[in-house]
Amino acid sequence: MINTSFLTQKNQSIDFIQQVWSQIPWSRHAPSDRVDLCLLFAGLKPSVRLSIGETPYRTNFLNTMKVAGFDTAFDGDGYSVISPHKGFAEFILAIDQRNIPHAFEFGQFLGYPDCCARFIDHQGEHRIDELALAFVKENLKDPYRFIDISAYDKGIGLISHVPCAYDCKASLEIALGLKRFIESQECSGDFSLWKREVRSYFNF
Ligand SMILES: [Zn+2]
Repeated sequence: MINTSFLTQKNQSIDFIQQVWSQIPWSRHAPSDRVDLCLLFAGLKPSVRLSIGETPYRTNFLNTMKVAGFDTAFDGDGYSVISPHKGFAEFILAIDQRNIPHAFEFGQFLGYPDCCARFIDHQGEHRIDELALAFVKENLKDPYRFIDISAYDKGIGLISHVPCAYDCKASLEIALGLKRFIESQECSGDFSLWKREVRSYFNF
């Protein structure tokens, strides 16, 4: 197993969010990319993997991320990886391309808590969409309502993985971390619109 403790997190400033968020043409992204990128910018995720295809837009987007100080890489399947850690993006894609099972490590590098990475590893990575659908918000009791992933595909969420349980503490910690981060951002423009949507959904 690879030790991930070297991944010191970078929490980006308000100016950063204001500048970078407004430069991203979100209509070219899956709505859920907003959740993933906000977790990355909040220092709550060591890397993100986005499916933005192989369009010329990918070059623009990855350049924006590079200028903002991120490490970037892409593969031949339309996936791009972005990380604040130098050399890390390429490394993650290399893990994904290995023929041996790697769901646990891969989950860890994308910032899943160990318990949730292990859960996906046991259940089978190919079942991830099915597991996400089976995770119904009606079973979440306060304060775990913040780990609701049912609106993630619409770009509303505070975590970007399937929790291992309805009371997964590690997932709740990430969700509350992102909630605090979103609350602390006094931005105008696109970010504030998204912030309003998330706050209204989760009622905070
Ligand atoms: Zn868990």
